[in-house]
Amino acid sequence: MSVLVYLESWEGKFKKNTWEAATYAAKTASMLGTEAIGLCIGKLDEDASEAGNYGLSKVLKLEGDAFNQFDANVYGAAIAEVAAAQSANTVIVSATFNGKALAPALSIQADAALLSNVVALPENASPFSVKRGVFSGKGFNILTSDAAKRIVLFVPNSIAPEATGGSASVEGTSAGQGSISPVAVKEVDRVKGKIPLPEAERVISGGRGLKGPENWGMIEELAEVLDAGTACSKPVSDMDWRPHSEHVGQTGIAIKPNLYVAVGISGAIQHLAGVSASKTIVVINKDPEAPFFKAADYGVVGDAFEVVPKLTEEIKKFKA
Ligand code: FAD
Repeated sequence: MSVLVYLESWEGKFKKNTWEAATYAAKTASMLGTEAIGLCIGKLDEDASEAGNYGLSKVLKLEGDAFNQFDANVYGAAIAEVAAAQSANTVIVSATFNGKALAPALSIQADAALLSNVVALPENASPFSVKRGVFSGKGFNILTSDAAKRIVLFVPNSIAPEATGGSASVEGTSAGQGSISPVAVKEVDRVKGKIPLPEAERVISGGRGLKGPENWGMIEELAEVLDAGTACSKPVSDMDWRPHSEHVGQTGIAIKPNLYVAVGISGAIQHLAGVSASKTIVVINKDPEAPFFKAADYGVVGDAFEVVPKLTEEIKKFKA
């Protein structure tokens, strides 16, 4: 018996939450009295042995043409095969954009229970029980599963990565090669040089108060001076003012940056569900009664079209 963790990477680099996932796996393995093994899939430019510093004993690397692009079914089949070969009855996956697509496919291919929306380390090893977030994080429940195999899909930023100073061996594996053919996907243009939203430490977000897509220049300029990613409210992406990948909230991405600046966003409960865990929230809104101010650490009551350019100028002066 062992615990397997999928060590997610993007364009050859580990993701922000990869070491959190490793820590989650190491602590779960320790509760279960077993070892934690990492699995990297696809081309990797970083040293996978770093996972040892987060409590993993071994890291397996799976490379090949089939894994150059993320495909939930291909990755799921490969992880299921590696899990069987390593006698892993618990597989840890972070609920990132790809992780959320991967976990259900993996659960079917591995014939394992899927424990989703997990927000803390397991409560109990036997029977295995985990704490889950419900109602957009407003409440919790404890889910107990007596399934022989399980996939734990845990919400990023739920625990802090913990360096242990250990080391991990790194081995190649060929499990899962070619068991499922990837589905051909159309390449889409990505805006180069932009910070991916889930990775961003700072996020500038715009809402319907910005009136139209032509006004996003000032949001991007502020994001640039602050080295920040950009986000938006749901109506903004529904109206195609911004791409859906920027939509945050209950039905969009949940983020937890150090700084979240909300410009012209009212602060509806569905929006707050995805951003209220941010460390510092700054709200810029012309309506002093906007509900977002109740969740803000700092608030500016004013017209975004005056406040944002001035703020950008001041930050530029400060940085000069
Ligand atoms: P509005 O509510 O129209 O607010 C615009 C704000 O801009 C106002 O507060 C106004 O005072 C301010 N403003 C206007 N002009 C200016 C100016 N010149 N300067 C400064 N401020 C100005 N929403 C999400 O965002 N994410 C979700 O995931 C999401 N999921 C949903 C799921 C469900 C099932 C439902 C029913 C709704 C969901 N919504 C979600 C929608 C949500 O309820 C709100 O309608 C939405 O968040 C409002 O977006 P907004 O704040 O940009 O727009």
